[in-house]
Amino acid sequence: MGRYGAVEAGGTKFICAVGGSPDTIDSELTIDTASSELTLSRVVEFFVDHHRQQPLDAIGVGCFGPVDLSPDSPTYGHITTTPKPGWGHVDILGPLRMLDLPLGFDTDVNAAALGEQRWGAAQGLQNLVYLTVGTGIGGGAVVEGNLLHGLVHPEMGHVPVPHDLATDPFAGACPFHGDCLEGLASGPAIQQRWGRPAPSLESHHPAWDLEARYLACALANFIFTLSPQRLILGGGIMEQSHLFPKVRQQLTEQLRGYIQSPAILEDIDHYVVPPGLGSRPGICGGLVLAEQAVRIG
Ligand code: ZN
Repeated sequence: MGRYGAVEAGGTKFICAVGGSPDTIDSELTIDTASSELTLSRVVEFFVDHHRQQPLDAIGVGCFGPVDLSPDSPTYGHITTTPKPGWGHVDILGPLRMLDLPLGFDTDVNAAALGEQRWGAAQGLQNLVYLTVGTGIGGGAVVEGNLLHGLVHPEMGHVPVPHDLATDPFAGACPFHGDCLEGLASGPAIQQRWGRPAPSLESHHPAWDLEARYLACALANFIFTLSPQRLILGGGIMEQSHLFPKVRQQLTEQLRGYIQSPAILEDIDHYVVPPGLGSRPGICGGLVLAEQAVRIG
C-alpha cells in the first residue's frame, strides 16, 4: 500500500490527511476556509512536514467547484467561477507542486463517489451517483468504472426541477439560476424559505416532504440519464435520516414503475442510501485520486 496525502477542499473547511486507506489515516488536519493564500499555505505546510518525516507517494485533491479538470488547459487545477468571495480563479494545485509529487485533482463530489466505490456503499459497482446536499448541492458519477468528466464536469446540483409557485412561492436561492435544485433544496434555501435553519425543523415539518420531492425529481433525472446502479446521498441535510424514506417514496412515485429493475422495484432501500463512509467519503476519495495519480504518472 502506498502512502498518500488527501485534501478535501470545501467552502467552509479544508481537510488534509495522510495514509493509505480509511483505516490507516495516521494524521489529519481541519482548516477553516479563510483567504485562499492563508488556507493553501497551511495545506502545503502540512504535507511538506509529513513528506519530510516519511515520504508520500502522491497527493489527491477533491475540490469544491466549478474547477478546471482539463489536463491540457493552462488553468488546470484552478477553481473557475465560484461565487465564493476570494476563491474565484484560484490555483489550487499550484502551491502543491513544490512537493514534486504526482497530483490527482477532481471535484469534491467525484472524489466522494470514488471513495464510496472503493470502501463505502458502492463497492463492486461500476456505475453510481454520489449527491451531496448541504450548503450547496453537487453530484459526482462513476460511469462504466470511470469518473464522468465530459465537457467540464457534471453540475448535478443545478438541474432544473419543476417548481410549483402555488405550493412553494419561494423564488430560489441560486445566484445563477434562482430555482434550480440547489436554489430550492440546499441548506440555505431551506433556511430562507422557512426562516429557520434546516436542522431545527421537526421531522414532521412540511419542509421535508417538499425537500424529498425536489431531491427525488433530480434523482429521477440522474437515473434516466446515467442509469446508476446505486444513488448515494450525503451532506449535512441528509443527516436528517427521516428524509431517506421520504425520498425513496417520492422517487418510486415519480418513476411510475418505468425502470424495470428489481433494484428499484423491489429493493429501493438499498438503492438510495447514505454514504458507507459516513462523513468521510470525500477525504477517502482523495486517497484514491492520489493512488490513481501514481498510476498515471
Ligand atoms: Zn443553480
